[in-house]
Amino acid sequence: MSQLRTVPRRTHALLLAALLAIAGAAGAAQAELELLLQGTSERLPLPDFGNAPRAEPRGAMVRDQIEARGVADPAVLAAMRRVPRHEFVPESQVARAYSDRPLAIGHGQTISQPFIVAFMTEMLALGPEDRVLEVGTGSAYQAAILAELVRQVVSIEIIEPLAVSAAERLDRLGYRNVTVLYGDGYYGWPEDAPYDAIIVTAAALHIPPPLIAQLKPGGRMAIPVGETAWTQNLLLVEKDATDRISTRNLLPVAFVPLTGGH
Ligand code: SAM
Repeated sequence: MSQLRTVPRRTHALLLAALLAIAGAAGAAQAELELLLQGTSERLPLPDFGNAPRAEPRGAMVRDQIEARGVADPAVLAAMRRVPRHEFVPESQVARAYSDRPLAIGHGQTISQPFIVAFMTEMLALGPEDRVLEVGTGSAYQAAILAELVRQVVSIEIIEPLAVSAAERLDRLGYRNVTVLYGDGYYGWPEDAPYDAIIVTAAALHIPPPLIAQLKPGGRMAIPVGETAWTQNLLLVEKDATDRISTRNLLPVAFVPLTGGH
């Protein structure tokens, strides 16, 4: 069973910085992260959303915003149709939950536009046995979509109140296969690495080397990279069987920045 709990911080930030400097190899040291929700890789049932409230606007969202723009993976479309997006936005935004745009979730952050969530999920070409790392939990909506499709999700959020409310929300809705951590996701979570796929939902200045290190051979990463909202591109990063990295630029995007002291 998943459980909501707080555990002591693992590594002091200064120690981490020193270790990184000494190791000279990003990814060799572990970031300071706090475990808020422990997910399991056991196959447990997904949440039962009963009569699926707001199914009509959700269906219209999938048809008019997502399928109409070319997302075609049936499993991704089914997840977008099933997960109640209105549960992931503040009360004041519920009426707009299925609109074609990102929405404010507090602390200067956003829940991404539905199309972008679906597009990034499809890019990862996920399978039911996969384990996925997300950097930028935010509302936990993307984490829930991933949790519908794969065996296990690990998600990291740097703003503590968002991380705490995301963990509480996933627990309340009944997602048992998601681990939520609070801290800087730039360094990933080596404890559960390597991952079949990695998704970064905030814009980085470069592809974090620790995340590349934590991607499996054959794995895929979706990451927006760029300095400003006007110059960001969504990259697909692929690691082949011999650990060679290739990147493809798929879409101009506008994400909030990846923050933290890295
Ligand atoms: N995936 C989210 C969702 O479904 O609601 C939306 C993510 S929002 C566009 C970006 C999130 O990334 C914010 O919540 C922000 O606090 C978080 N973030 C920014 N820098 C981060 C970092 N270094 N590590 C972890 N999270 C970070």
